[in-house]
Amino acid sequence: MIIHSASYIKSSASLKQCPPALKPELGFIGRSNVGKSSLINLLTGNSRLAKISGNPGKTRTINHFLINDSWYLVDLPGYGFARVPVKMREKWVKAVEDYILSRENLICLFVLLDSRHKPQNSDMLFMGFLGMNQVPFARVFTKTDKLTQGALKKSIHNYDIEMLKLWESLPVTFLSSTVNRTGKEEILDFIEETINNLSNAV
Ligand code: GDP
Repeated sequence: MIIHSASYIKSSASLKQCPPALKPELGFIGRSNVGKSSLINLLTGNSRLAKISGNPGKTRTINHFLINDSWYLVDLPGYGFARVPVKMREKWVKAVEDYILSRENLICLFVLLDSRHKPQNSDMLFMGFLGMNQVPFARVFTKTDKLTQGALKKSIHNYDIEMLKLWESLPVTFLSSTVNRTGKEEILDFIEETINNLSNAV
């Protein structure tokens, strides 16, 4: 898929505030600092987009971007909750949880995982939550340029081992590096295919 246009639509603090669910949407989520803004910039070729969601106050909202006038890319708040007051954390978890469980046009979530790290508890719990609720998701291992091929393979293998304790099969998986600009075509082709499958099914 080639992205011709990408524009910021709005930031929503709750599911109710999200734009009408009239177009398919794909969400991006991960712990803070995983490289989500950088990946969104790479995918859309528009460095202004993720800057918008990086503005103070916007990082805790559900940020909608309209792509090619046909689908929404949704930047979801990260689940690294350090330094956030418990009250605020609860509100924010509820907003994301509502969104994930009830947003009817959400067709896939990309869960970003830092390829340098060992399987993280918060990531495993989050993916477990998606699995339990049958929310379709794909994994994206980010910052792959920071590892040798061997170390990268090992790191992914460690995740696979942990995940296969819970799942019979593994989700679709992508590797990305915004430094080497890799992963973009594969992810965009997958998005195109997922959207096409949806319209064929209707
Ligand atoms: P976010 O908090 O998940 O939106 O993460 P950012 O996109 O802001 O990235 C966090 C840090 O990781 C920044 O310093 C980025 O430059 C760096 N980063 C993001 N993606 C990559 C990558 O693919 N390779 C490398 N080497 N650094 C990256």
